[in-house]
Amino acid sequence: MEADAKAITAGDGTPTAGDGTPTAGDGTPTAGDGTPTAGGASSAVGGALPTAAVCMPMDDHYFMGLALEQAKLAYALGEVPIGAVMVLGQELLSAAHNRRELDADPAAHAELLALREAAAKLGRWRLTDCTVYVTLEPCLMCAGAMVQARIGRCVYAAADPKGGALGSLYQVHTDARLNHNFPVTAKVRELECADLLRSFFAALRQRPGPARGVC
Ligand SMILES: [Zn+2]
Repeated sequence: MEADAKAITAGDGTPTAGDGTPTAGDGTPTAGDGTPTAGGASSAVGGALPTAAVCMPMDDHYFMGLALEQAKLAYALGEVPIGAVMVLGQELLSAAHNRRELDADPAAHAELLALREAAAKLGRWRLTDCTVYVTLEPCLMCAGAMVQARIGRCVYAAADPKGGALGSLYQVHTDARLNHNFPVTAKVRELECADLLRSFFAALRQRPGPARGVC
Protein backbone atom coordinates (compact mmCIF):
# COMPACT_ATOMS: atom_id res chain seq x y z
CA MET A 1 0.00 0.00 0.00
CA GLU A 2 1.58 3.21 -1.10
CA ALA A 3 -0.71 5.70 0.54
CA ASP A 4 -2.70 4.97 3.61
CA ALA A 5 -4.96 7.96 3.90
CA LYS A 6 -8.36 6.37 4.10
CA ALA A 7 -10.97 8.95 4.68
CA ILE A 8 -12.80 11.19 2.33
CA THR A 9 -12.69 14.75 3.52
CA ALA A 10 -14.83 17.61 2.43
CA GLY A 11 -13.22 20.63 0.88
CA ASP A 12 -13.25 22.32 4.22
CA GLY A 13 -11.51 19.44 5.89
CA THR A 14 -14.54 17.97 7.60
CA PRO A 15 -15.13 14.26 7.15
CA THR A 16 -18.00 13.32 4.89
CA ALA A 17 -19.99 10.17 4.89
CA GLY A 18 -19.67 9.76 1.14
CA ASP A 19 -23.19 8.51 1.35
CA GLY A 20 -24.42 10.15 -1.77
CA THR A 21 -26.81 12.98 -2.21
CA PRO A 22 -30.28 12.66 -3.62
CA THR A 23 -30.53 12.66 -7.38
CA ALA A 24 -33.10 13.71 -9.84
CA GLY A 25 -34.84 10.91 -11.68
CA ASP A 26 -32.50 11.25 -14.64
CA GLY A 27 -29.37 10.68 -12.68
CA THR A 28 -28.46 14.30 -12.41
CA PRO A 29 -26.47 14.82 -9.26
CA THR A 30 -27.85 17.29 -6.85
CA ALA A 31 -25.97 19.61 -4.66
CA GLY A 32 -26.83 17.77 -1.49
CA ASP A 33 -27.70 19.86 1.47
CA GLY A 34 -26.98 23.08 -0.32
CA THR A 35 -24.42 24.10 2.21
CA PRO A 36 -21.69 26.15 0.61
CA THR A 37 -18.31 24.55 1.04
CA ALA A 38 -15.08 26.30 1.58
CA GLY A 39 -13.33 24.11 -0.94
CA GLY A 40 -10.00 24.92 0.57
CA ALA A 41 -10.17 28.41 -0.79
CA SER A 42 -7.43 30.70 0.25
CA SER A 43 -8.37 33.46 2.58
CA ALA A 44 -7.95 36.94 1.31
CA VAL A 45 -4.62 38.51 1.94
CA GLY A 46 -5.13 41.43 4.21
CA GLY A 47 -3.02 44.43 4.95
CA ALA A 48 -0.24 45.97 2.93
CA LEU A 49 2.07 43.27 1.70
CA PRO A 50 4.84 43.23 -0.86
CA THR A 51 3.54 42.48 -4.32
CA ALA A 52 5.09 39.03 -4.38
CA ALA A 53 3.27 38.03 -1.21
CA VAL A 54 -0.12 38.94 -2.69
CA CYS A 55 0.06 36.05 -5.13
CA MET A 56 -2.58 33.54 -4.16
CA PRO A 57 -1.26 30.03 -3.67
CA MET A 58 -2.67 27.56 -6.12
CA ASP A 59 -4.96 25.29 -4.18
CA ASP A 60 -7.85 22.91 -4.57
CA HIS A 61 -10.28 25.74 -5.24
CA TYR A 62 -8.09 27.07 -8.01
CA PHE A 63 -7.44 23.77 -9.75
CA MET A 64 -11.08 22.74 -9.51
CA GLY A 65 -11.84 25.99 -11.31
CA LEU A 66 -9.69 24.79 -14.20
CA ALA A 67 -11.57 21.49 -14.23
CA LEU A 68 -14.83 23.44 -14.22
CA GLU A 69 -13.67 25.40 -17.27
CA GLN A 70 -13.16 22.08 -19.02
CA ALA A 71 -16.65 21.02 -18.01
CA LYS A 72 -18.04 24.18 -19.56
CA LEU A 73 -16.22 23.40 -22.81
CA ALA A 74 -17.88 19.99 -22.80
CA TYR A 75 -21.24 21.65 -22.20
CA ALA A 76 -20.76 23.88 -25.24
CA LEU A 77 -20.03 20.80 -27.34
CA GLY A 78 -23.16 19.00 -26.21
CA GLU A 79 -21.26 16.60 -23.97
CA VAL A 80 -22.24 15.84 -20.39
CA PRO A 81 -20.30 18.64 -18.67
CA ILE A 82 -17.54 16.94 -16.73
CA GLY A 83 -13.98 18.25 -16.68
CA ALA A 84 -10.70 17.18 -15.13
CA VAL A 85 -7.12 18.37 -14.71
CA MET A 86 -3.96 16.67 -13.50
CA VAL A 87 -1.50 18.51 -11.32
CA LEU A 88 2.03 17.79 -10.17
CA GLY A 89 2.97 20.08 -7.30
CA GLN A 90 1.81 23.44 -8.65
CA GLU A 91 2.24 22.44 -12.29
CA LEU A 92 -0.74 21.77 -14.53
CA LEU A 93 0.04 18.61 -16.48
CA SER A 94 -3.13 18.08 -18.45
CA ALA A 95 -6.72 19.17 -18.85
CA ALA A 96 -9.56 17.29 -20.49
CA HIS A 97 -13.30 17.04 -20.66
CA ASN A 98 -15.77 14.31 -21.34
CA ARG A 99 -15.69 13.34 -25.04
CA ARG A 100 -17.87 10.27 -25.02
CA GLU A 101 -20.24 11.50 -27.71
CA LEU A 102 -17.62 13.24 -29.84
CA ASP A 103 -15.32 10.23 -29.94
CA ALA A 104 -18.03 7.57 -29.75
CA ASP A 105 -15.87 6.12 -27.00
CA PRO A 106 -17.38 4.73 -23.80
CA ALA A 107 -14.04 5.23 -22.05
CA ALA A 108 -13.59 8.89 -23.02
CA HIS A 109 -14.28 10.20 -19.53
CA ALA A 110 -12.61 13.46 -18.53
CA GLU A 111 -10.40 12.14 -15.76
CA LEU A 112 -9.26 9.12 -17.75
CA LEU A 113 -8.23 11.33 -20.67
CA ALA A 114 -6.42 13.71 -18.31
CA LEU A 115 -4.70 10.79 -16.62
CA ARG A 116 -3.41 9.36 -19.89
CA GLU A 117 -2.26 12.74 -21.17
CA ALA A 118 -0.36 13.43 -17.94
CA ALA A 119 1.33 10.03 -18.05
CA ALA A 120 2.35 10.60 -21.66
CA LYS A 121 3.73 14.02 -20.78
CA LEU A 122 5.75 12.66 -17.86
CA GLY A 123 6.79 9.55 -19.76
CA ARG A 124 5.76 7.25 -16.94
CA TRP A 125 2.64 5.41 -15.83
CA ARG A 126 3.23 5.72 -12.09
CA LEU A 127 1.64 8.98 -10.94
CA THR A 128 2.09 8.75 -7.19
CA ASP A 129 3.08 12.42 -6.99
CA CYS A 130 0.09 13.70 -8.96
CA THR A 131 -3.39 14.90 -8.04
CA VAL A 132 -6.44 14.62 -10.25
CA TYR A 133 -9.20 17.21 -9.98
CA VAL A 134 -12.55 16.26 -11.46
CA THR A 135 -15.94 17.96 -11.33
CA LEU A 136 -17.93 14.77 -10.68
CA GLU A 137 -17.10 11.79 -8.49
CA PRO A 138 -15.25 9.24 -10.65
CA CYS A 139 -16.97 6.10 -11.88
CA LEU A 140 -15.69 2.59 -11.28
CA MET A 141 -13.63 2.62 -14.48
CA CYS A 142 -11.89 5.89 -13.68
CA ALA A 143 -11.36 4.99 -10.03
CA GLY A 144 -9.78 1.75 -11.24
CA ALA A 145 -7.53 3.68 -13.58
CA MET A 146 -6.43 5.81 -10.64
CA VAL A 147 -5.45 2.68 -8.75
CA GLN A 148 -3.53 1.45 -11.80
CA ALA A 149 -1.75 4.82 -12.04
CA ARG A 150 -0.94 4.74 -8.31
CA ILE A 151 -2.44 8.21 -8.18
CA GLY A 152 -1.36 10.40 -5.28
CA ARG A 153 -4.71 12.03 -4.55
CA CYS A 154 -8.12 12.73 -6.05
CA VAL A 155 -10.22 15.83 -5.51
CA TYR A 156 -13.77 15.90 -6.80
CA ALA A 157 -16.67 18.34 -6.65
CA ALA A 158 -20.12 16.75 -6.86
CA ALA A 159 -20.89 13.28 -5.59
CA ASP A 160 -22.51 10.83 -7.99
CA PRO A 161 -24.84 8.63 -5.95
CA LYS A 162 -25.71 6.52 -8.99
CA GLY A 163 -22.21 5.81 -10.24
CA GLY A 164 -19.57 7.19 -7.91
CA ALA A 165 -16.80 4.82 -6.90
CA LEU A 166 -14.94 7.05 -4.45
CA GLY A 167 -17.43 7.16 -1.63
CA SER A 168 -20.95 6.84 -3.02
CA LEU A 169 -21.40 3.31 -4.40
CA TYR A 170 -17.89 2.00 -3.82
CA GLN A 171 -14.86 3.00 -1.78
CA VAL A 172 -12.18 1.99 -4.25
CA HIS A 173 -9.68 4.42 -2.75
CA THR A 174 -9.79 2.69 0.65
CA ASP A 175 -10.26 -0.93 -0.41
CA ALA A 176 -7.51 -2.79 1.41
CA ARG A 177 -7.75 -5.68 -1.05
CA LEU A 178 -6.27 -3.49 -3.76
CA ASN A 179 -2.57 -2.79 -3.96
CA HIS A 180 -2.95 0.97 -3.83
CA ASN A 181 -5.06 3.32 -1.74
CA PHE A 182 -5.18 7.09 -2.03
CA PRO A 183 -6.73 10.06 -0.22
CA VAL A 184 -9.84 11.74 -1.59
CA THR A 185 -11.18 15.22 -0.99
CA ALA A 186 -14.83 15.73 -1.92
CA LYS A 187 -17.22 18.69 -2.29
CA VAL A 188 -14.68 21.19 -3.57
CA ARG A 189 -16.76 23.75 -5.55
CA GLU A 190 -19.55 21.22 -5.39
CA LEU A 191 -22.43 23.61 -6.05
CA GLU A 192 -20.96 25.16 -9.17
CA CYS A 193 -20.16 21.81 -10.75
CA ALA A 194 -23.49 20.25 -9.79
CA ASP A 195 -25.38 23.30 -11.07
CA LEU A 196 -23.68 22.96 -14.43
CA LEU A 197 -24.79 19.32 -14.68
CA ARG A 198 -28.31 20.20 -13.61
CA SER A 199 -28.48 22.95 -16.19
CA PHE A 200 -27.25 20.60 -18.91
CA PHE A 201 -29.81 17.93 -18.17
CA ALA A 202 -32.61 20.45 -17.81
CA ALA A 203 -31.80 21.77 -21.28
CA LEU A 204 -31.54 18.23 -22.63
CA ARG A 205 -35.01 17.42 -21.41
CA GLN A 206 -36.35 20.25 -23.56
CA ARG A 207 -35.04 18.57 -26.71
CA PRO A 208 -36.27 15.38 -28.34
CA GLY A 209 -33.88 12.46 -28.52
CA PRO A 210 -32.57 9.56 -26.48
CA ALA A 211 -32.06 10.04 -22.77
CA ARG A 212 -28.50 10.51 -21.61
CA GLY A 213 -27.09 9.73 -18.21
CA VAL A 214 -23.95 10.78 -16.45
CA CYS A 215 -22.31 7.37 -16.69
ZN1 LIG B 1 -15.36 7.60 -15.41
